[in-house]
Amino acid sequence: MKTYKVLALAVAITIICSIVQAQQTQWKVHDMSRPAPTVVDAGTASTQDVVGRAPSDAVVLFDGKDLSAWSQKDGTPAKWKLGSGYFETVPKSGYIYSKKTFGDCQLHVEFATPSPAVGQGQDRGNSGVFLMGLYEIQVLDSYNNRTYADGSAAAVYGQYPPLVNASRPPGQWQTYDIVFHAPKFGGDGKLLHKARVTVLHNGVLVQDNVEIQGTTSTDKPEYTAQPDKLPLALQDHNHPVRFRNIWVRELKAE
Ligand code: MG
Repeated sequence: MKTYKVLALAVAITIICSIVQAQQTQWKVHDMSRPAPTVVDAGTASTQDVVGRAPSDAVVLFDGKDLSAWSQKDGTPAKWKLGSGYFETVPKSGYIYSKKTFGDCQLHVEFATPSPAVGQGQDRGNSGVFLMGLYEIQVLDSYNNRTYADGSAAAVYGQYPPLVNASRPPGQWQTYDIVFHAPKFGGDGKLLHKARVTVLHNGVLVQDNVEIQGTTSTDKPEYTAQPDKLPLALQDHNHPVRFRNIWVRELKAE
């Protein structure tokens, strides 16, 4: 009799747990009323000579034609130089900012550092992808170029070195595929959770869902309350780094 009661209790607990779980996920297993995933044309990957095509649901920030999706910090037209299918940093012209703002997103960027390489360490093919204009994924010529680890190409600058150095030689096109989750703040401006980022450099995982410690800083990174969405920025670090095929997919909660 006692064994029977224990078994009955176990069954009851299992049923309650599955009801709670079903309520949490909203959907039953294999639920035909659950909305089907949206169909997306996946686009194509780039090669060195052929520029890829963005997925159909992406916001294209540069398709090789013009800099109309970008501006200087003060909102005036972007001063960077347009080339054949790419644009290039104009040293000392300042960062450029996307006109559209983004929070949680998937971002694809292609870049090429100057060839032949000039300079050493941080003074060689330096630029940066600033998520929300605040958190830098370093762009650098890290091909046979020693520098501090957390300033290498694909580092979360000053915080996390890349897991490996997947850099290609100067002049070759390289890719960053980034998944970014913005920090969240409460109504009182208190930090609820930090930002997180995953980065693939030339298809190789180099940042694995790391927790960003605060805005990029050479001192102590910190968080201050910020909007849910902000412009993406590209860094002018006085080097003529080239960019092409930039697109963003905004991520939305289910
Ligand atoms: Mg930089």
